[in-house]
Amino acid sequence: MEITNPHTKPVRVGSLEFGGPSFAVIAGPCSIESLEQCSQTADAVKKSGAVMLRGGMFKLRTNPETFQGMGSDAFSIVREVKAKTGLPFVSEITDPRQISDFIGLVDMFQVGSRNMHNYALLKELGQVQTPVMLKRGFSGLISEWLHSAEYLVKHGNPNVVLCERGIRTFETATRNTFDLNAIAFVKQNSHFPVIADPSHATGATSLVTPMALAAAAAGADGLIIEVHPNPAVALSDGFQALTPDLFESLMNRLERVLKALDRPLAKPLT
Ligand code: PEP
Ligand code: MN
Repeated sequence: MEITNPHTKPVRVGSLEFGGPSFAVIAGPCSIESLEQCSQTADAVKKSGAVMLRGGMFKLRTNPETFQGMGSDAFSIVREVKAKTGLPFVSEITDPRQISDFIGLVDMFQVGSRNMHNYALLKELGQVQTPVMLKRGFSGLISEWLHSAEYLVKHGNPNVVLCERGIRTFETATRNTFDLNAIAFVKQNSHFPVIADPSHATGATSLVTPMALAAAAAGADGLIIEVHPNPAVALSDGFQALTPDLFESLMNRLERVLKALDRPLAKPLT
């Protein structure tokens, strides 16, 4: 069974491809907290088959009293971990003035849920060729999300990967409501690759793996998963982080689902 939409235009990130035949998994901490934490997580997720590293440097937190990220102090950590592991890196950009610092450091920009409607930021990211992972706003209609993607394209950057990360609904048992419909819908109705973020979509460690598998079955082109060596002491989003062991088990189960879908897992880099 072929689940890759023939209309999806793959987006290349270095030697990786999103939206092609293979399924790519991004993993790493919500926030970069130290060299040791970042390096330990990167080694673990790479060993289990992740092909890209995530890690927040500039965090958009709802509560201003909480950890705001290491900011530019994380740059040297990222350089060191990338050099050691060879993993490409994605991180959230929160202000157009960060673009020049991010170029060469990130292999893909992340536009977070809170910035899906930040058209000034989208226009600036349209001026570069580095791919952009555009998360869906937590109250964003699918049509608004696709329009935001078109902002990037119209301003010159066609390298857009969409990311469904859950939406706000009347339900409060979970942090967000994971909109699986959206994954199948954008695959059928746009040419953009789409990945899923079951970490933010559920906000609960125990729900991440089942929803990751569901996203793959719904036709997602990949995943982005939060992993922390010790979630109990994480400075952000520890309640939804997988330990390296749980991530390894997710990857084992994912491989079985992908096999049933006739879709290979993107190969780990050597
Ligand atoms: C994140 O990826 O850590 C994040 C803040 O995501 P979102 O923008 O989806 O809330
Ligand atoms: Mn997070």
